[in-house]
Formats: sequence, structure tokens, C-alpha cells
Amino acid sequence: METIFSGIQPSGTLTLGNYLGAMKQFVELQEDYDCYFCIVDEHAITVPQDRLKLRENIRSLAALYLASGIDPDKATLFIQSEVSAHTQLGWIMQTQSYIGELERMTQFKDKSAGKEGVSSALLTYPPLMAADILLYNTNLVPVGNDQKQHLELTRDLAERFNRKYNAIFTVPEVKISEVGARIMSLQEPTKKMSKSDENQKATIYMLDEPKKIIKKIKSAVTDSEGVVRFDPTDKPGVSNLLTILSSATNTPIKDLEQQYAGVGYGQFKQDVADAVVNVLEPIQQRYSDIITSDTLDEVLDQGRDAASRVADKTLAKAKKAMGLGRVR
Ligand code: ATP
Ligand code: MG
Repeated sequence: METIFSGIQPSGTLTLGNYLGAMKQFVELQEDYDCYFCIVDEHAITVPQDRLKLRENIRSLAALYLASGIDPDKATLFIQSEVSAHTQLGWIMQTQSYIGELERMTQFKDKSAGKEGVSSALLTYPPLMAADILLYNTNLVPVGNDQKQHLELTRDLAERFNRKYNAIFTVPEVKISEVGARIMSLQEPTKKMSKSDENQKATIYMLDEPKKIIKKIKSAVTDSEGVVRFDPTDKPGVSNLLTILSSATNTPIKDLEQQYAGVGYGQFKQDVADAVVNVLEPIQQRYSDIITSDTLDEVLDQGRDAASRVADKTLAKAKKAMGLGRVR
């Protein structure tokens, strides 16, 4: 069976983008792959986090994975900082990365732009991400479109290491869903929706009440043409809503364009909002049961142990290949 790894940062409440671009695929993939789903808290601290809020976000993210349909009998769910091999291999992968290639990463440029006191870990995020993936002999990494560049770097680092030392790493492929891989901000539809966006109106959070979801979608930025047509360059707002509706209802965008010929934006937005509520409401109900239950800790303990067994082996191989430590 092939292996899948993917991570989500506990850097805030998950967004509709995280769900449609990543989580939704995870639920389908766990049936056919050996899956590792990780709460990447060590990535989250590359930007400042409040410690109590971070703890809460970690727990909430674990509950959301389960509420969305991740089954701990089928997939391994765990917290990155509880498996120490991640930072250790992360360091090793840093020794294989060039500053220049890290500085070229779009996420680094976006997240550091205009900020003072940018941490060096924000720059070295991709080698840690490479370590996350390589530890599990991962074949496939399902992520949103924004992570494609990091995945290419992961492949480069794996190949570089394999060539220089010993061919111990599986070189992973990226898996990006056809629709929903890039959900945009509702207020600035040329920018991706992010859980760390300060503008709450721009983002649909997975735990937003239905009323709030409807309000946010109704006030989403569109255009004055009044035609429901997919054209991301000239009509980014409407195209984003079409993407959301398409992904939420599993209906091709072409069919939706036909269905909405002659229909105004008011009705269209109402339908998008209803579709999103239909997807998120059942998840929210399951979430409220899971977040208060003890099973969450049991799942995370088991996940940590199962992940460590695999990760420690790969780490030992990487150390040996580089000549670290002693031969015993
Ligand atoms: P942050 O703003 O803290 O980086 P984020 O919303 O970008 O948060 P991540 O934890 O960085 O979320 O990413 C988790 C997963 O969600 C990744 O696979 C990423 O590609 C995907 N993802 C993030 N934003 C979107 C989006 N707008 N559309 C589709 N997928 C997305
Ligand atoms: Mg991100």
C-alpha cells in the first residue's frame, strides 16, 4: 500500500480553504492509502503564537480531523512536536538546503513582507516540511496549490541527499485536487483564503455558525457584470464562489455556469451559502461531541507511538548515511 503524508498548522481555526483544498481529500484517501495526518505545531511557531491559544488550536484541529471523517483505525493522526524525529531530520535537511532557494519560496516572501523580526525558522520552514514528509517514506502528498513549491523543494532535497549519501528517501509526488485547491479570500479574491488572515470577513472558518457563513458569503466581493461565469482573471470573486459551490456540491463548474445562466448574484450567493452550510453543519455537530471526549487523547497517544516507530527508523538511516554519531 502506498503512503500519504499531509499536515495542517494549528495557527488558527481551520478555513473553508483548508477543508476543500486539503481535508476533504484526506477523508477519501484514507480508504486506499497508509495515511499519516499531522498537526504541525512546530511549523505554527515560525510566526508568533500565544501559548494558550496554540494549545487550544492543537486540540481543536485534532477534533476537526476526526469530525471531518478521519478514522483513527484507518489513518495515523498525531502532533508533530510529540515525534522528535521531525526536528532532528529537519536539521539534517537544513544542511542540504541553500539559503538562496529558501529565500525564493513564495510563502517566505508573503509571510515576511513588511514584518520586522522575522524568525530564521520562517526561512527554514521548507526543510522541516521536507523532513515531515520524508520520515514516512511518503509516496503522495495531498495539499492545496500554495504548497506546490514546497513540495518541489522537498523532492529536490530528497534527490540531493540520495545522490550525495545513500538512496534512503522515497521521492514523493504532490497531489492537488482538481477543484478547490485554491480558495480565495472573500474580500480580496486575488489573495488566497488563510486562517491567519486578520480580516475575519474574508474567511469562512469551519466552525462559523451558519448565520455567519451566509452573511460572509452574501457580502463577498463580486463585480458589476451580473453574469455567473468562470473567469479568474476578470471575475476573481464570482469565479471563487463558483469554485466553492463546485467543490462543495461535487458539480463541475461548466454545469453550474449553465445552471446559473440568467440568474442574479443574490440567488447565486444564497445557493453557495446553503451548499457551504450543508457541508460544514454536520462536521460542526460531530466536532462538539469530540472536543469534550477522552477519545481525543487516546487517538493522539496511539498516533504518536505509531508515527514514532516509522520516523525513528528513517532518522537512524539518515544519520548513518551522513556519518553522524557512532557505529554500534
Ligand atoms: P496559515 O495562514 O497559517 O499558513 P493556511 O490557511 O495557509 O494557514 P496551512 O496550515 O498552512 O493553512 O495549510 C494546510 C493545508 O491547507 C495545506 O495543504 C494548504 O495547501 C491548504 N490550504 C491552505 N489555504 C488554502 C486555500 N485557500 N485553498 C485551498 N487549500 C488551502
Ligand atoms: Mg499556509
